[in-house]
Amino acid sequence: HDLYGTARANSKGINLNDRPQLDALTQALAQQQGKTWDLACLVCGARTGGDPMAVKSPADRTETVGTIRPALVTDREAALKAALKAQQSWNRLGGKARADILRKMGDALENEMEVLIGLMVREAGKTLSDGIAEVREAVDFCRYYAMQAEAQFADPTQLPGPTGERNELMLEGRGVFLSISPWNFPLAIFTGQLAAALAAGNAVIAKPAEQTSLIAAYATELFHQAGVPGDVLHLLVGTGPEVAAPLVEDERIAGVVFTGSTETAKIINRSLAARDGAIVPLIAETGGQNAMIVDTTALTEQVTDAVMDSAFGSAGQRCSALRILCIQDDVADDVIHMVKGALSQRAVSHPGDPVTDIGPIIDEQARAGLEKHIARMDKEARFIARADLPSDLQNGTYFAPCIYEINSISQLDREIFGPVLHILRYKAEALDSLMDQLAATGYGLTCGIHSRLEGRWNSLFEKSMAGNVYVNRNMVGAVVGVQPFGGRGLSGTGFKAGGPHYLLRFAIERVRTVNT
Ligand code: GLU
Repeated sequence: HDLYGTARANSKGINLNDRPQLDALTQALAQQQGKTWDLACLVCGARTGGDPMAVKSPADRTETVGTIRPALVTDREAALKAALKAQQSWNRLGGKARADILRKMGDALENEMEVLIGLMVREAGKTLSDGIAEVREAVDFCRYYAMQAEAQFADPTQLPGPTGERNELMLEGRGVFLSISPWNFPLAIFTGQLAAALAAGNAVIAKPAEQTSLIAAYATELFHQAGVPGDVLHLLVGTGPEVAAPLVEDERIAGVVFTGSTETAKIINRSLAARDGAIVPLIAETGGQNAMIVDTTALTEQVTDAVMDSAFGSAGQRCSALRILCIQDDVADDVIHMVKGALSQRAVSHPGDPVTDIGPIIDEQARAGLEKHIARMDKEARFIARADLPSDLQNGTYFAPCIYEINSISQLDREIFGPVLHILRYKAEALDSLMDQLAATGYGLTCGIHSRLEGRWNSLFEKSMAGNVYVNRNMVGAVVGVQPFGGRGLSGTGFKAGGPHYLLRFAIERVRTVNT
């Protein structure tokens, strides 16, 4: 079996530079414009939940995307009981049969690509290109973990032993996994967590971010149609404290997979440690304080493109996004000039418009947090630039991307999750200590360097804590099976999503010794 998928192809998606493909997509999206979705929790395959709540679009709060029904306490109990009962038979089904179902899910996502993009544009404020990339990543996760399920969970591995003895090593699911997924990749990370937990033979209760419950509910229905039994996968919609916290505390949950803030990961970790019963794993992918280093040998245009993608793509709402651009002082003014010029060319606008580069912020609370941060930056840092916000965006939660120059990393005490770029100048002789300071933040997610000097790449790779290091390119958009993604320290537990070892965290190992 091929653990690394060298013969595997990733999903192709839609090419927006190809006019007929772009036209087909925009037409499909136009048809969905008036649609209102009515979705709900899914317990044992049936729609359930409390009173329907309206879902508004971050792109335009006057637009109703649909309604969703939040989980009741009775839904939670019913889901958990059914999942506990169903997990064993799902595990016994074996890696091959589970892989077939996950491949069907990958195909279903690909077939529904336009509908999924339309829903993400409206519910999550995703731009078209981000929406395409997101469906592709979700498809890739299904196919990649299907491959891993076949390679690692289908047949027992025969181990050597004395004559007359048979030793077999096998991987099995742990039980019922709780998946807590974020709004910033409402389809890709949601699908990836579920596909991984299911591939390894677990039943799953999914608690998606409340901001993007419709996408999660629709994807869950696709999982069921692809063949995941209703009692093996349940969806509970609602807030973390109301829906996820009681499950984290429940000793019947055999593991938690979480993507979100470092703070929340720590709360989950403490809560798992405090409960009675078994010691269970937390697989967490959290925040970053991600830097890019630019020295005098860097190609300024390449740097500018990479900075635009990394800091402002997806409106900076990626945990991998660039937050601190460190430029050697000899070239700093030139690079800042170019980056400033590039920012002024970026279109902040409605996410469904093909010309839009930067869409809205997910909600009012997140936007208010960003405004508060830049009010502080206005006092403590040097203002460099802020993009224009067109006046017709009043109804959405938009935020004009901006750039500030800071004097020290310590001016940023936490992750700023949005399109705010901080620039820091460094002197050549201080590069080593800068690398040390970056590592000392305790975060270790992504990091980039633009330099022609191979020795610099190597010393960054050695000193940095980052799980993903990018040289002379952007530092976002890790591709499944190509750049397995994830960090360490304050940035997460590992193993990497979309990598060959991820499923192991969802599994237990067993050995059977038979005296023949
Ligand atoms: N995997 C994404 C990337 O490489 C980031 C995921 C996240 O923001 O949680 O950009």
